[in-house]
Amino acid sequence: MSLLTKKIFRSIFIYAAIAVMLTITIMVVLMNRLGYETLDDRLRTETNVLAHGVERSGAGFLSDADLGCVDAVLISEDGYIIFAENEKLTGRRADYPEAKAARREGSGSTSKFSFISSQTEINCAVRLRDGSVLRTSARPHSIMTLYGGFLGSALFLLGTALLTAILLARFISKKIMKPINSINLENPKMKRAYPELKPLLKRLRAQNSKVKIQMEELRHSREQFEAITESMSEGLVFVSPKFMILSCNSGALKLLDAPSGCEGISVFSLNNTDSFRHCVQNAAGGKRSDCILEINGENRQIIASPSRNHSMVNGVVIFIMDVTEHQQLETMRREFTSNVSHELKTPLTTIYGISDMLANGLVKQEDVQKFGGNIRSESERLITLINDIVSLSKLDEGAVPEENEPVDLYALSDEIIGRLKMAADEKKVSFRLRGDHVTYVGNRVILDEIVFNLCDNAVKYNKDGGRVDVKISHIPKYALITVSDTGVGIPEYSLNRIFERFYRVDKSRSGKIKGTGLGLSIVKHGVMYHNGDIHAESTVGEGTTFTVKLPVEKSSDKAE
Ligand code: ADP
Repeated sequence: MSLLTKKIFRSIFIYAAIAVMLTITIMVVLMNRLGYETLDDRLRTETNVLAHGVERSGAGFLSDADLGCVDAVLISEDGYIIFAENEKLTGRRADYPEAKAARREGSGSTSKFSFISSQTEINCAVRLRDGSVLRTSARPHSIMTLYGGFLGSALFLLGTALLTAILLARFISKKIMKPINSINLENPKMKRAYPELKPLLKRLRAQNSKVKIQMEELRHSREQFEAITESMSEGLVFVSPKFMILSCNSGALKLLDAPSGCEGISVFSLNNTDSFRHCVQNAAGGKRSDCILEINGENRQIIASPSRNHSMVNGVVIFIMDVTEHQQLETMRREFTSNVSHELKTPLTTIYGISDMLANGLVKQEDVQKFGGNIRSESERLITLINDIVSLSKLDEGAVPEENEPVDLYALSDEIIGRLKMAADEKKVSFRLRGDHVTYVGNRVILDEIVFNLCDNAVKYNKDGGRVDVKISHIPKYALITVSDTGVGIPEYSLNRIFERFYRVDKSRSGKIKGTGLGLSIVKHGVMYHNGDIHAESTVGEGTTFTVKLPVEKSSDKAE
């Protein structure tokens, strides 16, 4: 039974029950009244008949007569009971008010209601000719007896009312609900509704349009927010105080290498490391926290901040950044600084030592020239190192002037070979320049450094009497510079490291050959400056080939 049906049923049943009980009560009261009046009349008549009998036949008449429900008492003139059905009363003094009235006026009557028995007692008295008084009394049915008589009917009526109330309640509630249920809450119309519901429907419609506008605004701002967060390369995750993911952008999933569809699951399913847990839990405790995670060999910085509402932490906002490059640069910077210091310190210590000895006259006259030569070569080493560092710094900072010009790579190589002739002759290394006069639009100074460093290495790391082949060619969209030598070669484990700053293959081997370990770094940065590519192939003991590929179409002003 629905609540409405229950309420209707209760009302109908209560009203019906009250009506039944009220009707029965009124009937009982009326019947009681009617019974009283009838009994009163009957008692008077019967008293007169009995009085007549007693006058004619004496008190014995009373004992012979069928008195039914009437009690009769005969009282002597002086007020003593001379006959009573209950013999114990005989001889007692009777002090009934109706008897006194009858003695005085010929007849008297009284009625008395007893609350204990809920009954009325009717008393009647007449004076007989001999002065004695006949007193009779009778009791009509009590109210409770009358109620008792109606009990069956009352129960039947209440049962009928109960049944009728159930059926009626069902019927009425269905009838009431039918038009209410047929109201479309999305678009409430007044036509078929109760007039009483019209103000409510009006408010509902107003509320609906307000909700619609708010929903639209909410959708719009959510879309805006999603568009912003989705376009971010950084990760952004919103977490509930119970560490459930409320929202998460694709950047976060990518950076944490987590599968998609993470909303509603625990944030620790994205990453379950102790540092991540610690960081997020700290933020949930109200303390901003950050950590670095290593994921697939890359570094991610996690910044977890508590989100507050009225100073209560109601979630955590996690910001994720890729700091791999930053960390690598940091490591490189540290290594570079320590390498530079080391490389500067070595020649300076030698120069200081020799000049100290010279200053203190500790060098023999015949050795002065030799020590002077040492100072010069260490100074040259210092100058080369500083020049290399300056070149590299310029390339690093992009401080190279963008003065691109058409450069004949063949002519440039030829000129560089000329510059290296002395060094090559010293080692009896021969140069061979082949290929075409390829004109490449680029930075002449940088292109010079590229070819010079490659050719210089090809001589330095060559065997005595070896050969260096320089070839300038072009393939579609690229200009190619190939420098091959018949030198010592580079072991495979070093091939991908030779472009690192200060890296020198086998320090003991390279130690004898002058160098800073910066030449190939400068070459690589120079090639990168021209958006090109460099590749090295080598066989230990046989020689090395460096191939530089420079794109000619990258910038429109570059041409062959
Ligand atoms: P360096 O000043 O020592 O020459 P580079 O950066 O030019 O520094 O070269 C790095 C290292 O690579 C060198 O120390 C050398 O061991 C190796 N290398 C470079 N070019 C050649 C080559 N043509 N043949 C053999 N080894 C080479």
